[in-house]
Amino acid sequence: MKLYSTNHISPDVDLKEAVFRGLPQDNGLYMPYDIPKLPDSFFENIEKLSLQEIAFTVAKALINDVPEDRLKTIVYDTLTFEVPVVNVHDNIYSLELIHGPSHAFKDFGARFMARLVSYFLEEDKREINILVATSGDTGSAVAQGFYGAKGVKVTILYPSGKVSDIQERQLTTLDKNITALEIIGNFDDCQRLVKTAFLDKEVTSKVNLSSANSINIARLIPQSFYYFYAYAKLKHLGKPLVFSVPSGNYGNLCGGLIAQKMGLPVHGFIASTNANDVVPRYLASGLYEPKSSVTTISNAMDVGSPNNFPRLQEMHGKSFETMKHNITGKRYSDAETTETVNNVHAKYNYAMCPHTAIAYRGLAEYLNNQSKELTGVFLATAHPAKFLDVIDTKVADSVIMPENLKRVMEKEKVSILLSNNYQELKDFLLK
Ligand SMILES: *Cc1c(COP(=O)(O)O)cnc(C)c1O
Repeated sequence: MKLYSTNHISPDVDLKEAVFRGLPQDNGLYMPYDIPKLPDSFFENIEKLSLQEIAFTVAKALINDVPEDRLKTIVYDTLTFEVPVVNVHDNIYSLELIHGPSHAFKDFGARFMARLVSYFLEEDKREINILVATSGDTGSAVAQGFYGAKGVKVTILYPSGKVSDIQERQLTTLDKNITALEIIGNFDDCQRLVKTAFLDKEVTSKVNLSSANSINIARLIPQSFYYFYAYAKLKHLGKPLVFSVPSGNYGNLCGGLIAQKMGLPVHGFIASTNANDVVPRYLASGLYEPKSSVTTISNAMDVGSPNNFPRLQEMHGKSFETMKHNITGKRYSDAETTETVNNVHAKYNYAMCPHTAIAYRGLAEYLNNQSKELTGVFLATAHPAKFLDVIDTKVADSVIMPENLKRVMEKEKVSILLSNNYQELKDFLLK
C-alpha cells in the first residue's frame, strides 16, 4: 500500500511507515494512492457473507503489506463482538457499533491498529510510544486495544473534568503500559499538545512517537468495514442507503467514504454534529472556519477543528460541489439532543447515547424531506450506559449496564495532572 501526504511535501510511505509515523512531517495526512473498486460479484453475494468475511475482503483489497493469513487473523481478532443492525421504526435502522470492549465504535479502529502494530513490531523489534489525545472514547478504546502489547507504551491525554465518569475510569484504571495524563484544558488543547510533540524534532529524535488518533490510517481502514456490513444486512429492502454519522474528527465518516470509493452503493451521507458545526457550516457556505471547541453533552464530538477535514476534501477530488452533493450537514443543540433521546425512548423504546441521538435526528429530518424510497442508517457510536450522567433518569433507568463497565467503576483512578503548556508534556516525554 502506497500512501502520500495531503500536503505533498513529505515523501510517500508504505503502510508500516504510515502507521508508525501517524502524521507526515509536513503536517498533512496520509492517504492511499489506490482505493480499489471491489468486483460486482462481491456485492452480488455480500448478503451471504459474515462481518468477518466482508471485512477481510475489504482489508485484502486495500492492504498488500501483510501476508494474507496474518491479515485474516488481524481482521478476525479485531471483530470478536456483535454488530447488530436494528430496525428502530419505519425505514430507520441503527448500526450498533457499541458492543466492543470499550462500548464505543472506536474499538474497531483501535483493535485493528493494535494488532497491525504488533504484527509490524514482530519484524522490527523497535519500541514505540503511542501518544493519543482523547475527548473520551478514543482513549479507552486505544488503552484496551493496546493493553499489555509488547514493545508499545501508550500515553493518553484527556481534558480534566470534560469526560464522563465511566470514560475517565476506563482511561485511568489500566496499569502496565498505559499512562493517563489529565490535562487542565479542553480537547483542542490535548490535540494541539499531541501535534506539537509530533512536530518537535528534539522529542522525535529521542522518543519513537506514534499516533493512534483517527488521523492514523490504521484506524481509518477498519471503519469502512461496517458500512459494507450494513449494506449486506439491508440489501434485501432494495432501496438506496443513506448513512447518518455523528461526527467530530470525521474519521468515522471517512471510513464510509472509503467504502463508497470501493464501490459500495451509497445514496449519500449525513454529517450530524452538535454545536461544533464547522463542517455543516462549510457545506452550507463553502467557507471553512475552524474554531475553538464548545463543550456539549455529546463530548466525543466536541471538536472545533476536525483533523480529518483534508481527507474529506481529498476524497471528493477537492471539489466543494462534489462534497456538498454527497454529504448533508445537520447540527443540533444539547436541548434538541436530550429531547431526541427522550422522544425516541418514549415512542420506540430505544435508548441512545447523545452522539447517537444526534445521528438519529439528522437522519429522521433528512428522510422527512426526501422520498420514502431510501433506507436510512444511523451509526450508534457509544453505549448509552457510558452517558447516564447526561441523559434523563427515565431513559437512564432502562439502560442495562454492561458487565465490564460495572467492573471498571469499582477500580481506582490513577492519572498525572498537567497544565496545557507544551513544556510540561515535553518534560514528561523526555524523562
Ligand atoms: C469519536 C466519537 C464520535 C466522532 O467520531 P469521529 O470519527 O471523530 O467523527 C462520535 N461518537 C462517539 C461516541 C465517539 O466516541
